[in-house]
Order: sequence, then C-alpha cells, then structure tokens
Amino acid sequence: MTVPAIEFKPASRPLSAERREEVLTSPGFGHHFTDHMVTITWTEGAGWHPARLVPYGPLPIDPANLTLHYAQTVFEGLKVHRRPDGGLAAFRPEENARRFQASAHRMAMPELPVETFIAACEALVRQDRAWVPSRPGHSLYLRPFMFATESGLGVRAAREFLFVVIASPTDGYFAGEIRPLSVWVAEEYVRAVPGGTGAAKTGANYAASLMGQAQAVAQGCDQVVWLDALERRWVEEMGAMNLFFVHGERIVTPELTGSLLPGITRASLLTLARDLGYEAEEARISLHDWRRDSADGSLTEVFACGTAAGVAPVGSVKTALTQWTVGDGRPGKVTMRLREALGEIQSGAAADTRGWMREMAKAGHPGRPADR
Ligand SMILES: *Cc1c(COP(=O)(O)O)cnc(C)c1O
Repeated sequence: MTVPAIEFKPASRPLSAERREEVLTSPGFGHHFTDHMVTITWTEGAGWHPARLVPYGPLPIDPANLTLHYAQTVFEGLKVHRRPDGGLAAFRPEENARRFQASAHRMAMPELPVETFIAACEALVRQDRAWVPSRPGHSLYLRPFMFATESGLGVRAAREFLFVVIASPTDGYFAGEIRPLSVWVAEEYVRAVPGGTGAAKTGANYAASLMGQAQAVAQGCDQVVWLDALERRWVEEMGAMNLFFVHGERIVTPELTGSLLPGITRASLLTLARDLGYEAEEARISLHDWRRDSADGSLTEVFACGTAAGVAPVGSVKTALTQWTVGDGRPGKVTMRLREALGEIQSGAAADTRGWMREMAKAGHPGRPADR
C-alpha cells in the first residue's frame, strides 16, 4: 500500500510564539488548536488523494451534506508526549489506526491504511511541533476524524469522504488535583445495543449519550455509567471511558461484548497490571455485584480510563434508588500505581519495554516541511 505524498501548504502566518506560549500555560482540553491540519480526500474509484497539510480553518459544508443528516462519521483520539530526550512520541498510534479502520468498516466507510493514518499524524506533529507542551502531564491531543462530504438526502453510504487530523494542546481532561469521580448509573437511557455501533468510535454514540450525561449532572454526579441495553444489569462503561474494578490484587474490567468501546488504555492497563504482578481479567460485572462488593469491602477500588483523562478514580455511585461509596471514597493505591506507571511510560520517565511509544517528528520524514 503506498502512502499518498502529503503536499505542504503551511500557514503563512502561524500564531506568534508569545501567544502560543500563553495558550500552553493553561490549555484546558479541546479549546485551542494548532496552526495546521492534514486533510485527505477519498472518492470512489480514485481512493485516497489528494493529501494536504494546510492552515487550520473551517471546512466548507453543503446543507445537504450526508453527515449532517445521517451521521456517517468516525473519529480517534491519541496523545503525543514530549520526552526527556527531546523526542515527540505518540502512545500506540498503530492501535488507533486499526480501530479507526474497524470503526469505519462498521459505519460503511472506506478504511484508511494504517501507514497513511500515521503519516498524516506525523506530518502534522512535525509541522506544529512547537505546540507539543513540555509541562509535566501536558501533551498534544490528536483528533483524526472522517466524514461523508457528499451531498444528497437519499439514505445510503456516501461515495466521497474527507479524513482530517487536527491537534490540540491539553493539560488533561480532569486536570488538577486527583478528585475521585462521582458516577450516576443510567437505567432509563442506554448508550449502545447488541448489533449496534457501540464498539465504533462514531459521533452518533456520543449524541445518544448526552441525555444520560445531563441526568448525571442533574443528579450532582460527574459522569454517567452505562448498563447493557437488554437486561440493564451488566456494567459497560463510563462516559467516554472504560471501567476497572479492583479486588485487592485482582483487577477486572467488563469484557468486550460488542456494545462497549475497546479502549486502547483499557488494553494497555490489562497488560501493565500483569507486568506489575496483579491478576487482571475481563469478565461480566453486574451493578448488583458492584454494590454488594462495595458494601462487604471486597471491592477496594474502581477507576475509569481513557486517552483524554488517563486513569481516574471513581469514589461514589448513585442510582435512582440508592447510593454508595467505593472503598474509602479516596483514590486507591492500585489506581494510583497504574496511573503513575502508564504516565511514566508516556512521559519517558520509565523504560518503554513493550515498544508502545512511537517517535512522531523524525528528521527526514517524507514530505518534510522546512524547519522552523
Ligand atoms: C475513546 C473511548 C474510550 C477510551 O478509549 P481509549 O482508546 O482508551 O482512549 C472509551 N469509551 C468510549 C465510549 C470512547 O469513545
């Protein structure tokens, strides 16, 4: 598979270094974007071309654009970290590329080759490398996405798509002190159904989740927890993060049933936990067990995980009928150990023994732009 050459048309006037530094002091999450983006068009017959790196900016959209009406769109999220040796490395980008293909397949969209996905991310990171934060815990969040660009109101898969990568400096999703999350268990609404699109990273799943999240906030909670759609009994995930249940030295995460998102952080933590000597497994976990095991003390910690927020402790649970605390309601030691271990691999403070970090701004990169 050949990777289309990326044509470079950089911004004639990128943000000044002073303004950029101001943004990097306190970037938040998803508020600020770098100077450029990469776009690749796909059309039936012609495939993936042309590929361009252009100034970040609005995309023209026809009122009859198929995505606006029928939501044929998928996305990814991955982070690039500044390393002590000056390198800029992404965490397991090949996994994001593969999941992007799986999501696209489910949504009847073309599958972007893994190498092209990575080349597009690399081109953007290399061009906008001054935007990769250097403060501890901060990183550059990449948001690759793809949507139908064809117009028409007939319901069918489009024959024309645009793949875009944008980048946003971030200090993390739940930045600041580590405050355990309170969660609301949605029993009225569901996020995903068997045979549906729950395992695809697609906008429609998020639209379906917003009422549940709004209820969680109305109940005074931080996040919503989803149950399976059929029995409303099995715990699936929390907001846009996967969940882990800690029983002393044993950690368990809900098994992939097809209606929850197969998180890369989730998969990585299963591996990392075993490396650290914990027993780690995937199983079905019921809401009933969550409550019972919290009450009898056998469930010692619960945490959520995902690219945007890393590892976040869950301290309390609320349902329409009851509420309870997990452990002592404070961040647990297994949670914090895994959080640190993952963070250290990403920041370069610990050895990357599994080859999870991929350098993204190598010199001599194909189609490399002028240094600046
Ligand atoms: C992206 C996402 C996750 C976490 O996946 P990571 O690869 O770990 O970032 C979990 N749940 C949902 C619904 C998601 O969209």
